[in-house]
Amino acid sequence: MSITRHDWTKEEIIAIYNKPLMELLYEAATIHREHHDPNVVQISTLISLKTGGCSEDCGYCPQAKRYHTNIETNPFMTVEDVKVQAVKAKEGGSSRVCMGAAWRNVKDGPEFDQVLEMVRTINKMDMEVCCTLGMITENQAQRLAEAGLYAYNHNIDTSEEYYKEVISTRGFEDRLQTIENVRKTNITVCSGGIIGMGESIEDRAGMLKALSTLDPMPESVPINALVPVAGTPLEAEQSVEIWDMIRMIATTRIVMPATQVRLSAGRINWNREGQALCFFAGANSIFSGDKLLTTPNNDLNEDMKMFELLGLKNQQPFAKTYKRVSVEAADSKFAPLGEKPKWSRPGHTIERNVEATVKGK
Ligand code: SF4
Repeated sequence: MSITRHDWTKEEIIAIYNKPLMELLYEAATIHREHHDPNVVQISTLISLKTGGCSEDCGYCPQAKRYHTNIETNPFMTVEDVKVQAVKAKEGGSSRVCMGAAWRNVKDGPEFDQVLEMVRTINKMDMEVCCTLGMITENQAQRLAEAGLYAYNHNIDTSEEYYKEVISTRGFEDRLQTIENVRKTNITVCSGGIIGMGESIEDRAGMLKALSTLDPMPESVPINALVPVAGTPLEAEQSVEIWDMIRMIATTRIVMPATQVRLSAGRINWNREGQALCFFAGANSIFSGDKLLTTPNNDLNEDMKMFELLGLKNQQPFAKTYKRVSVEAADSKFAPLGEKPKWSRPGHTIERNVEATVKGK
């Protein structure tokens, strides 16, 4: 049985990433089998509670209001609408629902209370419920945990060094602080990143080092490939080659053996053969639904045909850890504190972000 290590060096991770492909695949697949059923893949569904209008300047994101993209924005969803989408997701084979809102950070108030109610609702449907809402305080994490949240997603995106080339409105340390706040509760951590943003292999390794040296490691690591969107600073980036994705998935699997590795955005660009190699290399989750927040995603029927072809089975909810208890709002032990935490705002200049902000004005 492979040993779970928290002391990977960047050099070791780069050496794994650059191994001859057959050797890399064999090693990753061997570790994958030791820790997971290789024929089981989780289907997850992403629901966008509030799309667009975000104050941040993430260079990859069409939801940043400063960039000139043609995304469809939507007002904050109701609990009832979320329930309808969650029922549809469950019928489609999803065991996990991730709810996202284009916020810099969570603010106490009616919208957050509504999110807590959505968490209770989905928890009662016996599905794993995850949220991605930006930076959160310890008190907000506790309130989410009390509502029955299973996972909190907060991606570190890339290496600490390259982060400064992509985002100027918050710092890498804010991401780590939110993860630490989540870790003070029984919520599992989901944190990964994006490849194809112009980063080097060293940056990819740096991201995996940052995640694997967390103790405990994130239970879930999504690996996304950038889907360049017109109007964003990264609109001209080349699409990620499947070989890079396979290497990234395999390296993640070797460095974090027990983690759920999620083959996330960018999947639409790859054929079944490429995706099969990703599953072989250790990916054990995909997102279903024709959209991933704002970018296109694979058709569910096509995914089901792929599952049948490859002999894959859907992962059942709570297969990795127990279902969280959900406490009703009236019985809550945690009052909102109305905090105004001082998350950082480095504000350095990223030329391409500035250009994309100015362009089209
Ligand atoms: S990634 Fe999230 S925080 Fe960054 S601009 Fe998009 S919605 Fe806002």
